[in-house]
Amino acid sequence: MTASAMNSNCGGRDHGAIHVERAVIDWTRRIFGFPEGTSGLLTSGTSQSTIIALAAARIHALGRDVRANGLRDAPDHVAYASSGAHSANQKALELLGHGAQAVRRIPATGTNGGMDLAKLRAQLASDRAAGKRPFCVIGTIGSVDTGACDDLDALADLCAQEGLWLHVDGAFGCWARIADHPWRDLARGIERADSLAFDFHKWMYVQYDCGAVLIRHGDAHRAAFAMRPDYLEGQEDGLGGGDPWYCDYGIELSRGFRALRVWSCLRAYGLDRLARKISDNCRQAARMAALVETADELELGAPVVLNVCCFRYAPKDVDAGRQDMLNRQLATRLQLGGEVVFSTTKLGGRTFLRAAIVNHRTRDQDIDRAIAAVREACGALGRQ
Ligand SMILES: *Cc1c(COP(=O)(O)O)cnc(C)c1O
Repeated sequence: MTASAMNSNCGGRDHGAIHVERAVIDWTRRIFGFPEGTSGLLTSGTSQSTIIALAAARIHALGRDVRANGLRDAPDHVAYASSGAHSANQKALELLGHGAQAVRRIPATGTNGGMDLAKLRAQLASDRAAGKRPFCVIGTIGSVDTGACDDLDALADLCAQEGLWLHVDGAFGCWARIADHPWRDLARGIERADSLAFDFHKWMYVQYDCGAVLIRHGDAHRAAFAMRPDYLEGQEDGLGGGDPWYCDYGIELSRGFRALRVWSCLRAYGLDRLARKISDNCRQAARMAALVETADELELGAPVVLNVCCFRYAPKDVDAGRQDMLNRQLATRLQLGGEVVFSTTKLGGRTFLRAAIVNHRTRDQDIDRAIAAVREACGALGRQ
């Protein structure tokens, strides 16, 4: 409410709201272990952050001429991501003009549902042999479907050897870095990324919309976006003073005071309390998986590594195609019933119910009730 009433424009110039955004970015930079000189920007979410990060990665690989010439000199640039990577990554490469074909999808059959590194290496080698120009690996921590995590340390090693930019999609999962063990270990290596896209509006419980991007190479970030028309010329002092101006680091010129929401959340609750809630959400997902495993008629879709639990109603005497239909019906019935709401997703082509637990109010009893409600609804469907 305060941010709306103040109605600040955080595109640039020198005023209080800009200083709050700088403080928030510096705070996140330190949390994720990025060095000084890292640049950052608050965004509408990970989708926008990804476009910004990959634009910086491209400038880093191709040089500044890409802004004048477009992709004329770069028809063969390719990026690599897990088969479980979010659609936002492909969308960003499409919007940047590389096309969906520029994304190589690597099977997610490694530890914690991460990319198979041997397959990644093989794809890189065959692309190089075919004259393609790899420029970026996109690591995921916390895939949207199952919470799967790439081995970021191993990806950072590989990117260092191969001269590639490591971008990390950490939308919600990056916050594992502040959680208890064992979840914290999933984020190991995140501090070695060249860029990180993430949200405050998922797992940091900040109101929509609010995400951010951090970029280790502040110069590449600025080179990808800076463009000052005459009326925005900087000054030594006064309203036109100060640096950075956020319009030089992203798509938007005029932009609101998102930073106040993050800053207030941190001031009000403190990092430790937020971290405890994040760990609780992971425990709750594990609790849900344990309950699923005690139910004969339910089947877990993937091991629970973070805060996402996928499972399905899988009555033994029913074929898989009909099971899919039953699970779609189950999701709708539960949603309309209003006691518990699951989304659905597909794993291996089959329909699963999906719970991504990112609510600070969720308690263990809610998990127990949710599964009880599912089992009741399964019983009702089975009797139809
Ligand atoms: C939600 C999500 C995104 C997209 O983020 P928005 O904030 O919705 O734009 C990207 N990647 C992952 C892994 C996500 O969970």
